[in-house]
Amino acid sequence: MSASLEAAPLPATEVGADSGLGELCVLMKLGEIVLKGSNRKLFERRLHNNIRNSVRDFGHIRLSQRGAGVIIVRKPEASDLEVAEIADRMANVTGVVWVHLVRRVRKDLDAITDIGVRSMADREGTFAVRARRRDKRFEMTSSELAGHLGARIIEAHGYRVDLKCPDNTLHVEVDKDEAFVFTEGIPGQGGLPAGMSGRGLVLMSGGIDSPVAAHRMIRRGLKVDFLHFSGMPFTGPESIYKAYSLVREIDRYQVGSRLFVIPFGKAQQQLKSSGNERLQIVAQRRLMLKTAEAMADDLKAECLITGDALGQVSSQTMSNITALDDAVDLPILRPLIGMDKSEIMSEARRIGTLAISELPDEDCCTMLTPRQVETAAKIPDLRVIERRLDAEELAEHLVSSAQRHKPSFLGDEAPSQVDRSPVATVQA
Ligand code: ATP
Ligand code: MG
Repeated sequence: MSASLEAAPLPATEVGADSGLGELCVLMKLGEIVLKGSNRKLFERRLHNNIRNSVRDFGHIRLSQRGAGVIIVRKPEASDLEVAEIADRMANVTGVVWVHLVRRVRKDLDAITDIGVRSMADREGTFAVRARRRDKRFEMTSSELAGHLGARIIEAHGYRVDLKCPDNTLHVEVDKDEAFVFTEGIPGQGGLPAGMSGRGLVLMSGGIDSPVAAHRMIRRGLKVDFLHFSGMPFTGPESIYKAYSLVREIDRYQVGSRLFVIPFGKAQQQLKSSGNERLQIVAQRRLMLKTAEAMADDLKAECLITGDALGQVSSQTMSNITALDDAVDLPILRPLIGMDKSEIMSEARRIGTLAISELPDEDCCTMLTPRQVETAAKIPDLRVIERRLDAEELAEHLVSSAQRHKPSFLGDEAPSQVDRSPVATVQA
Protein backbone atom coordinates (compact mmCIF):
# COMPACT_ATOMS: atom_id res chain seq x y z
CA MET A 1 0.00 0.00 0.00
CA SER A 2 1.11 3.50 -0.68
CA ALA A 3 1.97 6.38 1.61
CA SER A 4 -0.83 8.56 2.93
CA LEU A 5 -1.64 12.19 2.33
CA GLU A 6 -2.39 14.38 5.30
CA ALA A 7 -4.75 17.31 5.12
CA ALA A 8 -2.70 20.18 6.55
CA PRO A 9 -4.88 22.92 8.06
CA LEU A 10 -4.55 26.33 6.46
CA PRO A 11 -3.31 28.89 8.98
CA ALA A 12 -4.71 32.42 8.75
CA THR A 13 -2.43 35.21 7.47
CA GLU A 14 -2.96 38.85 6.76
CA VAL A 15 -2.77 38.25 3.04
CA GLY A 16 -6.14 38.60 1.29
CA ALA A 17 -9.16 38.22 3.53
CA ASP A 18 -11.53 36.43 1.14
CA SER A 19 -9.75 33.46 -0.43
CA GLY A 20 -12.78 31.97 -2.11
CA LEU A 21 -13.53 28.42 -1.13
CA GLY A 22 -10.31 26.73 -0.12
CA GLU A 23 -12.33 23.47 -0.31
CA LEU A 24 -10.16 20.39 0.00
CA CYS A 25 -10.53 17.95 -2.91
CA VAL A 26 -8.53 15.33 -4.81
CA LEU A 27 -6.71 15.92 -8.09
CA MET A 28 -5.39 12.93 -10.01
CA LYS A 29 -2.93 12.76 -12.87
CA LEU A 30 -3.39 9.95 -15.36
CA GLY A 31 -0.72 8.08 -17.29
CA GLU A 32 -0.98 5.76 -20.28
CA ILE A 33 -4.67 6.42 -20.64
CA VAL A 34 -3.72 9.75 -22.15
CA LEU A 35 -2.14 7.94 -25.12
CA LYS A 36 -5.14 5.83 -26.04
CA GLY A 37 -6.45 7.97 -28.92
CA SER A 38 -9.93 7.00 -30.08
CA ASN A 39 -10.29 4.46 -27.24
CA ARG A 40 -9.79 7.15 -24.64
CA LYS A 41 -13.48 7.58 -23.88
CA LEU A 42 -13.80 3.86 -23.10
CA PHE A 43 -10.81 4.03 -20.80
CA GLU A 44 -12.15 7.10 -19.06
CA ARG A 45 -15.54 5.51 -18.50
CA ARG A 46 -13.92 2.42 -16.98
CA LEU A 47 -11.63 4.49 -14.79
CA HIS A 48 -14.48 6.70 -13.56
CA ASN A 49 -16.48 3.57 -12.65
CA ASN A 50 -13.49 2.08 -10.81
CA ILE A 51 -12.97 5.33 -8.91
CA ARG A 52 -16.63 5.48 -7.84
CA ASN A 53 -16.56 1.81 -6.78
CA SER A 54 -13.47 2.27 -4.67
CA VAL A 55 -15.17 4.94 -2.54
CA ARG A 56 -18.73 3.66 -2.71
CA ASP A 57 -18.96 3.61 1.10
CA PHE A 58 -18.57 7.41 1.07
CA GLY A 59 -21.85 7.89 -0.80
CA HIS A 60 -22.10 10.27 -3.74
CA ILE A 61 -18.92 11.94 -4.99
CA ARG A 62 -18.53 14.58 -7.71
CA LEU A 63 -16.11 13.44 -10.38
CA SER A 64 -14.98 15.52 -13.34
CA GLN A 65 -12.53 14.87 -16.13
CA ARG A 66 -10.26 17.79 -17.03
CA GLY A 67 -8.80 17.30 -20.49
CA ALA A 68 -7.10 13.96 -21.13
CA GLY A 69 -4.87 13.77 -18.11
CA VAL A 70 -6.59 15.07 -14.97
CA ILE A 71 -9.54 13.99 -12.83
CA ILE A 72 -10.98 15.97 -9.93
CA VAL A 73 -12.95 14.25 -7.17
CA ARG A 74 -14.96 16.43 -4.81
CA LYS A 75 -17.17 15.82 -1.82
CA PRO A 76 -17.88 19.34 -0.57
CA GLU A 77 -19.83 18.32 2.53
CA ALA A 78 -17.10 15.90 3.74
CA SER A 79 -14.56 16.71 6.46
CA ASP A 80 -10.88 17.24 5.53
CA LEU A 81 -10.10 13.87 7.11
CA GLU A 82 -12.63 12.11 4.89
CA VAL A 83 -11.27 13.80 1.77
CA ALA A 84 -7.75 12.68 2.76
CA GLU A 85 -9.10 9.12 3.08
CA ILE A 86 -10.63 9.41 -0.40
CA ALA A 87 -7.22 10.54 -1.71
CA ASP A 88 -5.57 7.47 -0.16
CA ARG A 89 -8.09 5.22 -1.89
CA MET A 90 -7.35 6.93 -5.22
CA ALA A 91 -3.70 5.92 -4.86
CA ASN A 92 -4.87 2.29 -5.25
CA VAL A 93 -6.94 2.83 -8.39
CA THR A 94 -4.97 1.52 -11.36
CA GLY A 95 -4.54 4.00 -14.21
CA VAL A 96 -3.81 6.87 -11.78
CA VAL A 97 -0.20 8.06 -11.71
CA TRP A 98 -0.27 10.85 -9.09
CA VAL A 99 -2.74 11.80 -6.37
CA HIS A 100 -2.81 15.28 -4.82
CA LEU A 101 -4.86 16.75 -2.01
CA VAL A 102 -5.66 20.19 -3.35
CA ARG A 103 -7.41 23.38 -2.29
CA ARG A 104 -10.06 24.50 -4.75
CA VAL A 105 -9.98 28.26 -5.11
CA ARG A 106 -11.95 30.91 -7.01
CA LYS A 107 -10.26 31.74 -10.29
CA ASP A 108 -9.05 35.07 -9.05
CA LEU A 109 -5.47 36.21 -8.54
CA ASP A 110 -6.00 37.47 -4.96
CA ALA A 111 -7.80 34.30 -3.89
CA ILE A 112 -5.10 32.09 -5.43
CA THR A 113 -2.38 34.17 -3.81
CA ASP A 114 -4.04 34.00 -0.40
CA ILE A 115 -4.39 30.22 -0.41
CA GLY A 116 -0.92 29.78 -1.97
CA VAL A 117 0.79 31.88 0.72
CA ARG A 118 -1.13 30.20 3.53
CA SER A 119 -0.34 26.73 2.16
CA MET A 120 3.37 27.51 2.50
CA ALA A 121 3.23 28.47 6.19
CA ASP A 122 5.47 26.34 8.44
CA ARG A 123 7.41 24.93 5.50
CA GLU A 124 10.95 25.95 6.35
CA GLY A 125 13.64 25.63 3.69
CA THR A 126 13.88 26.60 0.06
CA PHE A 127 10.89 26.64 -2.25
CA ALA A 128 9.70 26.83 -5.84
CA VAL A 129 6.34 27.62 -7.42
CA ARG A 130 5.14 25.63 -10.42
CA ALA A 131 2.15 27.10 -12.22
CA ARG A 132 0.06 25.62 -15.06
CA ARG A 133 -2.89 26.96 -16.96
CA ARG A 134 -5.37 24.56 -18.48
CA ASP A 135 -7.32 27.72 -19.34
CA LYS A 136 -5.06 29.99 -21.36
CA ARG A 137 -7.42 32.97 -20.97
CA PHE A 138 -6.23 33.54 -17.40
CA GLU A 139 -4.89 37.08 -16.89
CA MET A 140 -1.26 35.98 -16.37
CA THR A 141 0.99 33.50 -18.15
CA SER A 142 2.14 30.50 -16.08
CA SER A 143 5.57 32.01 -15.44
CA GLU A 144 4.10 35.39 -14.48
CA LEU A 145 1.77 33.64 -12.03
CA ALA A 146 4.65 31.61 -10.54
CA GLY A 147 6.77 34.77 -10.19
CA HIS A 148 3.92 36.66 -8.55
CA LEU A 149 3.24 33.90 -6.03
CA GLY A 150 6.96 33.47 -5.32
CA ALA A 151 7.32 37.15 -4.46
CA ARG A 152 4.31 37.06 -2.11
CA ILE A 153 5.64 33.93 -0.36
CA ILE A 154 9.05 35.56 0.21
CA GLU A 155 7.27 38.64 1.57
CA ALA A 156 5.09 36.62 3.96
CA HIS A 157 7.49 33.89 5.12
CA GLY A 158 11.02 34.97 4.10
CA TYR A 159 11.90 31.63 2.43
CA ARG A 160 14.61 31.42 -0.25
CA VAL A 161 13.80 30.34 -3.81
CA ASP A 162 15.53 27.30 -5.31
CA LEU A 163 14.08 26.36 -8.67
CA LYS A 164 16.37 23.35 -9.26
CA CYS A 165 16.09 21.41 -6.04
CA PRO A 166 13.55 23.01 -3.70
CA ASP A 167 12.67 21.60 -0.25
CA ASN A 168 9.03 22.52 -0.86
CA THR A 169 7.02 23.10 -4.02
CA LEU A 170 3.80 25.02 -4.38
CA HIS A 171 1.73 23.93 -7.37
CA VAL A 172 -0.99 26.05 -8.91
CA GLU A 173 -3.19 24.77 -11.72
CA VAL A 174 -5.69 27.14 -13.30
CA ASP A 175 -8.76 25.54 -14.88
CA LYS A 176 -11.73 26.96 -16.77
CA ASP A 177 -13.86 27.78 -13.75
CA GLU A 178 -11.53 27.51 -10.78
CA ALA A 179 -7.92 27.02 -9.69
CA PHE A 180 -6.25 24.32 -7.60
CA VAL A 181 -3.44 24.91 -5.14
CA PHE A 182 -1.38 22.13 -3.55
CA THR A 183 1.98 21.23 -2.14
CA GLU A 184 2.20 17.47 -1.96
CA GLY A 185 1.32 14.29 -3.77
CA ILE A 186 1.68 10.54 -3.55
CA PRO A 187 2.36 8.18 -6.44
CA GLY A 188 -0.55 6.11 -7.71
CA GLN A 189 -0.43 2.60 -9.16
CA GLY A 190 0.08 3.68 -12.77
CA GLY A 191 -0.89 1.18 -15.48
CA LEU A 192 -4.40 0.84 -16.90
CA PRO A 193 -7.88 0.78 -15.35
CA ALA A 194 -8.77 -2.71 -14.06
CA GLY A 195 -11.16 -4.45 -16.43
CA MET A 196 -9.95 -2.60 -19.53
CA SER A 197 -7.92 -5.56 -20.81
CA GLY A 198 -10.52 -8.28 -20.11
CA ARG A 199 -10.71 -10.93 -17.40
CA GLY A 200 -8.34 -13.53 -15.97
CA LEU A 201 -8.31 -16.26 -13.32
CA VAL A 202 -5.43 -16.23 -10.81
CA LEU A 203 -4.21 -19.49 -9.27
CA MET A 204 -3.74 -18.23 -5.77
CA SER A 205 -1.73 -20.16 -3.19
CA GLY A 206 -1.18 -18.72 0.26
CA GLY A 207 2.39 -17.86 -0.74
CA ILE A 208 4.25 -14.66 -1.60
CA ASP A 209 4.28 -14.87 -5.37
CA SER A 210 0.73 -15.33 -6.61
CA PRO A 211 -0.69 -12.13 -4.99
CA VAL A 212 2.11 -10.12 -6.60
CA ALA A 213 1.35 -11.77 -9.96
CA ALA A 214 -2.33 -10.84 -9.52
CA HIS A 215 -1.51 -7.22 -8.73
CA ARG A 216 0.77 -6.94 -11.77
CA MET A 217 -1.96 -8.14 -14.13
CA ILE A 218 -4.62 -5.94 -12.53
CA ARG A 219 -2.26 -3.03 -13.17
CA ARG A 220 -2.19 -3.99 -16.83
CA GLY A 221 -5.97 -3.73 -16.97
CA LEU A 222 -7.20 -7.26 -16.22
CA LYS A 223 -10.04 -7.81 -13.81
CA VAL A 224 -9.27 -11.08 -12.05
CA ASP A 225 -10.97 -13.80 -10.05
CA PHE A 226 -9.02 -16.07 -7.72
CA LEU A 227 -8.88 -19.85 -7.35
CA HIS A 228 -7.32 -21.49 -4.30
CA PHE A 229 -6.75 -25.21 -3.78
CA SER A 230 -6.71 -26.21 -0.13
CA GLY A 231 -5.41 -29.55 1.15
CA MET A 232 -8.75 -30.17 2.86
CA PRO A 233 -9.86 -32.60 4.20
CA PHE A 234 -6.27 -33.53 5.11
CA THR A 235 -5.13 -30.05 6.18
CA GLY A 236 -6.68 -27.40 8.37
CA PRO A 237 -8.45 -24.32 6.95
CA GLU A 238 -5.47 -21.97 7.54
CA SER A 239 -4.51 -21.71 3.87
CA ILE A 240 -8.11 -20.69 3.06
CA TYR A 241 -7.99 -17.89 5.64
CA LYS A 242 -4.72 -16.71 4.12
CA ALA A 243 -6.07 -16.81 0.57
CA TYR A 244 -9.16 -14.93 1.77
CA SER A 245 -7.09 -12.22 3.51
CA LEU A 246 -4.78 -11.90 0.51
CA VAL A 247 -7.67 -11.43 -1.89
CA ARG A 248 -9.24 -8.86 0.44
CA GLU A 249 -5.97 -6.92 0.36
CA ILE A 250 -5.73 -7.08 -3.44
CA ASP A 251 -9.39 -6.10 -3.74
CA ARG A 252 -8.27 -2.51 -3.04
CA TYR A 253 -6.80 -2.41 -6.52
CA GLN A 254 -9.78 -3.72 -8.49
CA VAL A 255 -12.88 -3.88 -6.22
CA GLY A 256 -15.37 -6.75 -6.53
CA SER A 257 -12.99 -9.72 -6.29
CA ARG A 258 -14.28 -13.28 -6.13
CA LEU A 259 -12.40 -16.17 -4.53
CA PHE A 260 -13.17 -19.81 -5.32
CA VAL A 261 -11.86 -22.44 -2.94
CA ILE A 262 -11.57 -26.09 -3.93
CA PRO A 263 -10.69 -28.89 -1.48
CA PHE A 264 -7.88 -30.66 -3.31
CA GLY A 265 -6.68 -33.24 -0.77
CA LYS A 266 -8.56 -36.27 -2.14
CA ALA A 267 -7.55 -35.48 -5.72
CA GLN A 268 -3.91 -35.30 -4.60
CA GLN A 269 -4.27 -38.68 -2.97
CA GLN A 270 -5.72 -40.15 -6.18
CA LEU A 271 -2.83 -38.67 -8.18
CA LYS A 272 -0.38 -40.20 -5.75
CA SER A 273 -1.82 -43.66 -6.19
CA SER A 274 -1.82 -43.40 -9.99
CA GLY A 275 1.74 -42.58 -10.81
CA ASN A 276 5.38 -41.93 -10.42
CA GLU A 277 6.26 -40.15 -7.20
CA ARG A 278 8.80 -37.80 -8.82
CA LEU A 279 6.09 -36.46 -11.15
CA GLN A 280 3.61 -35.65 -8.38
CA ILE A 281 4.20 -31.91 -8.15
CA VAL A 282 3.97 -31.28 -11.90
CA ALA A 283 0.96 -33.62 -12.16
CA GLN A 284 -0.76 -31.71 -9.34
CA ARG A 285 -0.05 -28.38 -11.03
CA ARG A 286 -1.46 -29.68 -14.32
CA LEU A 287 -4.63 -30.79 -12.55
CA MET A 288 -4.92 -27.34 -10.94
CA LEU A 289 -4.57 -25.71 -14.34
CA LYS A 290 -7.11 -28.07 -15.96
CA THR A 291 -9.57 -27.30 -13.16
CA ALA A 292 -8.98 -23.57 -13.58
CA GLU A 293 -9.54 -23.89 -17.31
CA ALA A 294 -12.81 -25.76 -16.70
CA MET A 295 -13.99 -22.78 -14.58
CA ALA A 296 -12.71 -20.06 -16.87
CA ASP A 297 -15.56 -20.07 -19.37
CA ASP A 298 -18.26 -19.35 -16.79
CA LEU A 299 -16.10 -16.59 -15.31
CA LYS A 300 -15.43 -15.15 -18.79
CA ALA A 301 -11.71 -15.48 -18.04
CA GLU A 302 -9.52 -15.43 -21.15
CA CYS A 303 -6.29 -16.39 -19.42
CA LEU A 304 -4.87 -18.10 -16.33
CA ILE A 305 -2.32 -16.32 -14.13
CA THR A 306 0.30 -17.93 -11.90
CA GLY A 307 3.15 -16.71 -9.70
CA ASP A 308 5.79 -18.88 -11.40
CA ALA A 309 9.32 -17.45 -11.62
CA LEU A 310 11.86 -19.31 -13.73
CA GLY A 311 14.02 -21.64 -11.67
CA GLN A 312 12.67 -20.49 -8.28
CA VAL A 313 11.61 -24.00 -7.28
CA SER A 314 12.00 -27.36 -9.01
CA SER A 315 8.50 -27.25 -10.52
CA GLN A 316 9.52 -24.05 -12.31
CA THR A 317 12.34 -25.31 -14.52
CA MET A 318 11.96 -24.57 -18.23
CA SER A 319 10.95 -28.18 -19.05
CA ASN A 320 8.39 -28.27 -16.26
CA ILE A 321 6.92 -24.94 -17.33
CA THR A 322 6.60 -26.36 -20.86
CA ALA A 323 4.85 -29.41 -19.40
CA LEU A 324 2.45 -27.11 -17.53
CA ASP A 325 1.64 -25.10 -20.65
CA ASP A 326 0.75 -28.37 -22.39
CA ALA A 327 -2.02 -29.10 -19.85
CA VAL A 328 -4.42 -26.39 -21.04
CA ASP A 329 -5.38 -24.44 -24.16
CA LEU A 330 -5.82 -21.11 -22.41
CA PRO A 331 -2.76 -18.85 -22.27
CA ILE A 332 -0.96 -18.94 -18.90
CA LEU A 333 0.35 -15.51 -17.92
CA ARG A 334 3.37 -15.51 -15.61
CA PRO A 335 4.17 -11.87 -14.85
CA LEU A 336 6.93 -12.79 -12.34
CA ILE A 337 8.81 -15.11 -14.69
CA GLY A 338 11.99 -13.01 -14.80
CA MET A 339 12.01 -11.70 -11.24
CA ASP A 340 14.26 -12.54 -8.29
CA LYS A 341 12.63 -13.60 -5.02
CA SER A 342 13.95 -10.45 -3.28
CA GLU A 343 12.32 -8.25 -5.93
CA ILE A 344 9.04 -10.13 -5.58
CA MET A 345 9.20 -9.76 -1.79
CA SER A 346 9.69 -6.01 -1.89
CA GLU A 347 6.78 -5.69 -4.30
CA ALA A 348 4.66 -7.86 -1.96
CA ARG A 349 5.57 -5.51 0.89
CA ARG A 350 4.60 -2.47 -1.16
CA ILE A 351 1.19 -3.83 -2.17
CA GLY A 352 0.45 -4.93 1.40
CA THR A 353 0.40 -8.73 1.01
CA LEU A 354 3.81 -9.84 2.36
CA ALA A 355 2.89 -10.06 6.06
CA ILE A 356 -0.17 -12.22 5.28
CA SER A 357 1.80 -14.49 2.93
CA GLU A 358 4.42 -15.05 5.62
CA LEU A 359 1.90 -16.41 8.15
CA PRO A 360 2.34 -20.14 8.66
CA ASP A 361 -0.06 -22.54 6.96
CA GLU A 362 -0.19 -26.05 5.68
CA ASP A 363 0.05 -25.69 1.91
CA CYS A 364 -1.72 -28.45 0.00
CA CYS A 365 1.42 -29.01 -2.06
CA THR A 366 3.73 -29.66 0.86
CA MET A 367 1.33 -32.36 1.92
CA LEU A 368 2.06 -35.57 0.07
CA THR A 369 5.25 -33.95 -1.27
CA PRO A 370 7.65 -36.46 -2.76
CA ARG A 371 11.23 -36.75 -1.54
CA GLN A 372 12.52 -35.91 -5.01
CA VAL A 373 10.92 -33.71 -7.65
CA GLU A 374 11.43 -34.31 -11.36
CA THR A 375 13.03 -31.23 -12.89
CA ALA A 376 12.46 -32.36 -16.49
CA ALA A 377 9.00 -33.94 -16.55
CA LYS A 378 8.11 -35.68 -19.81
CA ILE A 379 4.72 -34.74 -21.18
CA PRO A 380 3.83 -38.32 -22.37
CA ASP A 381 4.49 -39.66 -18.84
CA LEU A 382 2.16 -37.04 -17.37
CA ARG A 383 -0.52 -37.86 -19.93
CA VAL A 384 -0.37 -41.54 -18.94
CA ILE A 385 -1.10 -40.62 -15.31
CA GLU A 386 -3.94 -38.35 -16.40
CA ARG A 387 -5.54 -41.03 -18.57
CA ARG A 388 -5.41 -43.51 -15.69
CA LEU A 389 -7.12 -40.98 -13.50
CA ASP A 390 -9.51 -39.46 -16.07
CA ALA A 391 -8.16 -36.04 -15.23
CA GLU A 392 -10.73 -34.11 -17.30
CA GLU A 393 -13.60 -35.66 -15.39
CA LEU A 394 -11.80 -35.14 -12.09
CA ALA A 395 -11.31 -31.46 -12.99
CA GLU A 396 -15.06 -31.10 -13.67
CA HIS A 397 -15.81 -32.78 -10.34
CA LEU A 398 -13.44 -30.39 -8.55
CA VAL A 399 -15.15 -27.40 -10.17
CA SER A 400 -18.49 -28.57 -8.80
CA SER A 401 -17.04 -28.61 -5.29
CA ALA A 402 -15.89 -24.95 -5.43
CA GLN A 403 -16.99 -22.62 -2.67
CA ARG A 404 -17.41 -18.99 -3.60
CA HIS A 405 -16.40 -16.04 -1.40
CA LYS A 406 -16.40 -12.29 -1.95
CA PRO A 407 -13.52 -10.88 0.08
CA SER A 408 -14.01 -7.12 -0.03
CA PHE A 409 -11.45 -4.61 1.22
CA LEU A 410 -14.43 -2.75 2.66
CA GLY A 411 -15.13 -5.84 4.74
CA ASP A 412 -18.83 -6.12 3.85
CA GLU A 413 -18.90 -9.89 3.79
CA ALA A 414 -17.37 -12.15 6.42
CA PRO A 415 -15.60 -15.37 5.37
CA SER A 416 -18.19 -17.44 7.18
CA GLN A 417 -20.84 -16.40 4.65
CA VAL A 418 -19.95 -19.10 2.20
CA ASP A 419 -21.88 -19.21 -1.02
CA ARG A 420 -22.04 -22.85 -2.05
CA SER A 421 -23.63 -22.15 -5.41
CA PRO A 422 -21.93 -24.02 -8.23
CA VAL A 423 -19.63 -21.97 -10.42
CA ALA A 424 -21.94 -22.49 -13.39
CA THR A 425 -24.49 -20.11 -11.85
CA VAL A 426 -21.95 -17.34 -11.30
CA GLN A 427 -22.57 -14.24 -13.33
CA ALA A 428 -19.35 -12.60 -14.53
P1 ATP B 1 3.56 -18.81 -4.30
O1 ATP B 1 4.44 -17.98 -3.42
O2 ATP B 1 2.61 -18.02 -5.13
O3 ATP B 1 2.91 -19.92 -3.52
P2 ATP B 1 5.70 -20.54 -5.01
O4 ATP B 1 6.99 -19.92 -5.29
O5 ATP B 1 5.49 -21.17 -3.69
O6 ATP B 1 4.53 -19.51 -5.34
P3 ATP B 1 4.79 -22.92 -6.22
O7 ATP B 1 4.30 -23.43 -4.92
O8 ATP B 1 5.60 -23.79 -7.10
O9 ATP B 1 5.56 -21.56 -6.16
O10 ATP B 1 3.53 -22.50 -7.06
C1 ATP B 1 3.65 -21.93 -8.34
C2 ATP B 1 2.32 -21.29 -8.70
O11 ATP B 1 1.30 -22.30 -8.76
C3 ATP B 1 1.81 -20.33 -7.64
O12 ATP B 1 2.38 -19.04 -7.79
C4 ATP B 1 0.33 -20.35 -7.89
O13 ATP B 1 -0.01 -19.54 -9.00
C5 ATP B 1 0.09 -21.80 -8.24
N1 ATP B 1 -0.27 -22.55 -7.01
C6 ATP B 1 0.53 -23.24 -6.20
N2 ATP B 1 -0.16 -23.77 -5.17
C7 ATP B 1 -1.43 -23.38 -5.32
C8 ATP B 1 -2.63 -23.58 -4.57
N3 ATP B 1 -2.65 -24.29 -3.45
N4 ATP B 1 -3.77 -23.03 -5.05
C9 ATP B 1 -3.76 -22.29 -6.18
N5 ATP B 1 -2.67 -22.08 -6.91
C10 ATP B 1 -1.51 -22.60 -6.50
MG1 MG C 1 3.41 -21.91 -3.03
